[in-house]
Amino acid sequence: MSAAPPTLLDLDARHVWHPFTQSRTAPTPTVIVRGEGAVLHAADGSQLLDMVSSWWVNLHGHAHPHIAQAIARQAGTLEHVIFAGFTHAPATHLAARLTAELPGLSRVFFSDNGSTAVEVALKIALQAHHNRGERRTRLLAFDGGYHGDTFGAMSAGATSGFYAPFQDKLFGVTFLPYPATWDGDEDVDAREAAALAALDAALGDDVSAILLEPLVQGSAGMRVTRPAFLNEVIRRVHASGALVILDEVMTGFGRTGELFAARHLQERPDLMCFSKGLTGGFLPMGLTAATEDLYLAFEGDTFDRAFAHGHSYTANPLACAAALASLDLTLSAETSAHWARIGARHAAARAELAAHPNVTHVRQVGTILAAEIRGAGEYGGNTSLELRQYFAARGLLMRPLGNVMYLLPPYVVTDEQLRQAYGAMLDAAGTYGRPA
Ligand SMILES: *Cc1c(COP(=O)(O)O)cnc(C)c1O
Repeated sequence: MSAAPPTLLDLDARHVWHPFTQSRTAPTPTVIVRGEGAVLHAADGSQLLDMVSSWWVNLHGHAHPHIAQAIARQAGTLEHVIFAGFTHAPATHLAARLTAELPGLSRVFFSDNGSTAVEVALKIALQAHHNRGERRTRLLAFDGGYHGDTFGAMSAGATSGFYAPFQDKLFGVTFLPYPATWDGDEDVDAREAAALAALDAALGDDVSAILLEPLVQGSAGMRVTRPAFLNEVIRRVHASGALVILDEVMTGFGRTGELFAARHLQERPDLMCFSKGLTGGFLPMGLTAATEDLYLAFEGDTFDRAFAHGHSYTANPLACAAALASLDLTLSAETSAHWARIGARHAAARAELAAHPNVTHVRQVGTILAAEIRGAGEYGGNTSLELRQYFAARGLLMRPLGNVMYLLPPYVVTDEQLRQAYGAMLDAAGTYGRPA
């Protein structure tokens, strides 16, 4: 008799290496077979409510037909073409439609993911100064910022805490204190003033650019800053002659209640990085938007002034078609109504959470809601894993960052589904937290 054929989970356990996972302590992964709206259907027939938009990428619900059909149409027409010396309608229309929404930014450089979008922005900033004969080679970033897992992005996110084995391979970046704030925060003015003083001390004629996540640091634990502070940072950086790069990989496409977090600001960046929500969560793609001024710094009679950077799948037509279809939905009145609705539901829940004795540091920006469980452990400990399982047992896909519970749902999430998530957050605080 032959042995039973291996199950999907057998094969997974033998051959798959999962990201951000300690396989020895991680529970067996859940096999997902189908998604619809905010719901993921598992192979065992159970359902999970996706409250993290599947690693912050999904916008309009899973397997949305408008995007699925756009990809299928494009796949039957042109799946890919080398993007040096060639162009195509999906990339060109996407670049035009996106820059129309980005005042001051007119050029788009395509890559493959959030990390590459950041690498490209850093390289554009550094090479623009090089091409102009300026010795501006230093980069600034904020403590706790996360910008991806490639080496440049790791260097700019060196304080995010994941990179000990690579520390001596990272290039030097000057880090500034990040004045995170929350409901009832009384010291934010002083912390912002200290951060601005650190910025003043760090700025100089050798600085190329500052890289920052506008309004919300995602991976650091949904840490929020006030728009007025960011406006002041951008003003001072520009006054010193350096560039401003906004990493909107997580905040882009409506998460903050506006199309981009930059819409909450008066000051404008020189470069912006996008990925995650760019294709509505369907296909990997990164995009870096730049000013015309930066683009012109690369023009010249010789190739050495050009931006010698590219990826095999640059401007992949399927990903561009997905992004265009997602943009149709994102720019609809229906989606802005969802942003307002989720924002209002979160605002009501925020008060309820703040009233719980075991909950601290409640904060909200648009469709993102976060709160900390008082007394629960730090990232990397077992708390986030235990909490993940606690929420999963209640039918919720949530991935707390340490003791930070957060919601970052697809925009089609219903009020009833949100109520379920708020209730689970309050229960989790009751189970895992302690009063002050
Ligand atoms: C996720 C993330 C990145 C990295 O994107 P990947 O697609 O995972 O490489 C960069 N910046 C921010 C702010 C992110 O949240």
